[in-house]
Amino acid sequence: MSDKYVCELCKRIGVPKVTEHHLVPREEGGNYGEVAWLCENCHKQIHALYTNRELAIRLNTLDSLENDDKISKYLKYIRKQPPTKKVKVKKSKNVRKK
Ligand SMILES: [Zn+2]
Ligand SMILES: [Zn+2]
Repeated sequence: MSDKYVCELCKRIGVPKVTEHHLVPREEGGNYGEVAWLCENCHKQIHALYTNRELAIRLNTLDSLENDDKISKYLKYIRKQPPTKKVKVKKSKNVRKK
């Protein structure tokens, strides 16, 4: 196994690790669906920006995610950051747990 991880969303090479993201979240029935391998930053960012329902209905492919307004702003920023840098993730209000 290679020690160089590539994030499928920001496409940065050499991120310290990648985690499995269910394109249709398990809570929405995506248990056996497709997964994407994302760096920690992207993964956290996605779940901070979107609810599981939004992900399941609207953003269930990497393409649709990448082209969504909210995440594409973040992607422009993160692509300029070194792969090993830790970036703070802000939770958007509509996703925060009540
Ligand atoms: Zn990433
Ligand atoms: Zn996920």
